[in-house]
Amino acid sequence: MKKTIRGRKRAPAPKRATAVKRATEVKRAAAVKRATVVKRAKRAKTAVAKASAPRRATAGKRAPERRWAESPAALRHRMATILERLEQLYPQAKCSLGHENPLQLLIATILSAQCTDARVNMVTPALFARYPDARAFAEADLGELEEMIRSTGFYHNKARNIIACARELLLRHGGQVPADLESLVALPGIGRKTANVVLGNAFGIPGLVVDTHVTRLANLMFLTAQKDPNKIETDLMEVVPREKWTNLAHLFIEHGRRVCVARRPRCGDCVLHDVCPSSAV
Ligand code: SF4
Repeated sequence: MKKTIRGRKRAPAPKRATAVKRATEVKRAAAVKRATVVKRAKRAKTAVAKASAPRRATAGKRAPERRWAESPAALRHRMATILERLEQLYPQAKCSLGHENPLQLLIATILSAQCTDARVNMVTPALFARYPDARAFAEADLGELEEMIRSTGFYHNKARNIIACARELLLRHGGQVPADLESLVALPGIGRKTANVVLGNAFGIPGLVVDTHVTRLANLMFLTAQKDPNKIETDLMEVVPREKWTNLAHLFIEHGRRVCVARRPRCGDCVLHDVCPSSAV
């Protein structure tokens, strides 16, 4: 042992290094323990805040992530109430795309992607006068068609889809729009939404259309917890009677435009506030 200045005995160098190392480890362990305790406390605080938060305060903030806890029978009953009230409120609700036949509705629905129905209705009278049937659309000059539909946006893709779709109609369906889902979705550029619009509004065959309004309202009302339109369609099919499928979209679209407006739903004026889990009143 070496002697220190004050006469105390000092541990040899390797022993000192070990002692310092141990002290550092002890300090580090204490710091980790403290951090864990703080983290746990924070987590507990958040859980308590979540549990005590009022359930009806999600409107306009973020979409609910799960269904309202209720039995399938209770959900069907609530859905029936929702439909009944909306039917009373919007007895005139119908497809707002101007059309006189299935082909015109098919074309108008293609044009309505990422565009308002009002804008589509400004374009279609001249369009349908210039191209009166599937053959006319199939033989259309791409540039000319693009110019006619330019104001609806995405006009390159829409024009290409319209011409391809019209050619397929000529080739496989004698120039007529088929009245079944499978054949409709097999046409170029036609998805389930467009197919259901055509089935429900041009042929009177129930079709459940899931657009942005239906997606938003169905989630706010806890009728589904899905974001994918096909899954939402399946969920709604379970709780909406078949004969009401077509009208459901009309009603939700009206309500979504007038009362349950995106980002600022007017729950205080809503006839559904007592049957909607997201109601802010
Ligand atoms: S109460 Fe009405 S306005 Fe409010 S979120 Fe529900 S459906 Fe929308």
